Amino acid sequence: MDAGQVVGTGIDQDRLWSDLMTMGAIGGTAGGGSMRPALSDADREGRALFRHWAQEAGLELRTDRIGNIFARRPGTDPTAKPVMIGSHLDTQMPGGKFDGVLGVLAGLEVCRALTRAGVETTRPIEVVNWTNEEGARFQPGVMGSAVHAGTLALEEALARTDPQGRVLGAELERTGQAGDAAVPGEAPEAYYELHIEQGPELEAEGLDVAMVTRSSAMCSGYATINGQNGHTQTLAMPLRRNALVAAAQMILAIEAIGASVAPEGMVSASVVENWPNNRVNIPHLTKLSWAVVHQDPAGREEIVARIEAEVARIMSETGLDIALEHKHYREPCIFDADLIAAGVAKAAEMGFACKTMPTLTAHDALTLSDRCPTALIFVPCRGGVSHSEAEWCTAEQAAKGAELLLAMVRDAAA
Ligand SMILES: [Zn+2]
Repeated sequence: MDAGQVVGTGIDQDRLWSDLMTMGAIGGTAGGGSMRPALSDADREGRALFRHWAQEAGLELRTDRIGNIFARRPGTDPTAKPVMIGSHLDTQMPGGKFDGVLGVLAGLEVCRALTRAGVETTRPIEVVNWTNEEGARFQPGVMGSAVHAGTLALEEALARTDPQGRVLGAELERTGQAGDAAVPGEAPEAYYELHIEQGPELEAEGLDVAMVTRSSAMCSGYATINGQNGHTQTLAMPLRRNALVAAAQMILAIEAIGASVAPEGMVSASVVENWPNNRVNIPHLTKLSWAVVHQDPAGREEIVARIEAEVARIMSETGLDIALEHKHYREPCIFDADLIAAGVAKAAEMGFACKTMPTLTAHDALTLSDRCPTALIFVPCRGGVSHSEAEWCTAEQAAKGAELLLAMVRDAAA
């Protein structure tokens, strides 16, 4: 590294913030959020900017076959496995400026800070943008890291389609994001991810950062409700078999279950698809889906059993047929105890108010934690709001998280 460029050892808060705002403007929405679903034109533009900044920072780029982008800051030992920093630039539809984006752009700033300080590391540092973490356009989410880990087959991922029927592999080619680096990829030496909390605790408690200890038990629920079509202006009310009405009953029942298991668990219906979705047609087919989360697998099983019981009740009351399925089960992962302790100690040294806490939702870090020591760092977000245009954290909150990331990665790559 160029020792003549030493200007400090820390994160440049203004640069990190301006990067977040510049990236957030790509696919920017009127409500102040961002809309960069995976492999959309906006995602392509965001990825191009990431590559530009990485090259500007002197990092070496490569892209693998599912479109994961790796930006590498070489170490002095070319044979050493890299220390990886990652998250995702894709967003919900619409999403905010911070979920995932902070982790990737903080990774870039960590590399720039080391270079400014003239710090050479033994191990390479790689900043990764994982493809399709959000699963907003193509299911399932957390896709790029799963293909990299080999837990999801490349062919299976490439064949996924979005609601318009466009195939992921074709979109990867169309947007020029299909690289040639092989998947599965080699596990890194260690993995670090900085992310907004997506919950209210850190803000409410006035804390700067958290080291995440474990994840929750999760699964996804899907219902297909079969009614009978008919004319909404002519068919007698007692004869109607309206699938949407049963869906409405399910939505309320699921919400009540969620309320009763909070805060350890939660569930809300979140997707409704309705056919023919026409004012003068009684809906004959309605599909509903939801995500279940609970700190413990037993709590998750209880939520699932209660939803099954409510569906049985609604079926018998309405006489409609409802096919119910829960799948995509994800067991809790336990993060590396040594890295948690190291993060807590570093935060104390740096004067940051820190605690340990679980994460309720999935992150790429969960996939990596099966492969290498993994640390997930949280910073506060306003009101606990995420997956929303209103998602927000301050420049100082983002920079403190990045400072902790820098300190941990610098040690790990030393
Ligand atoms: Zn995220």
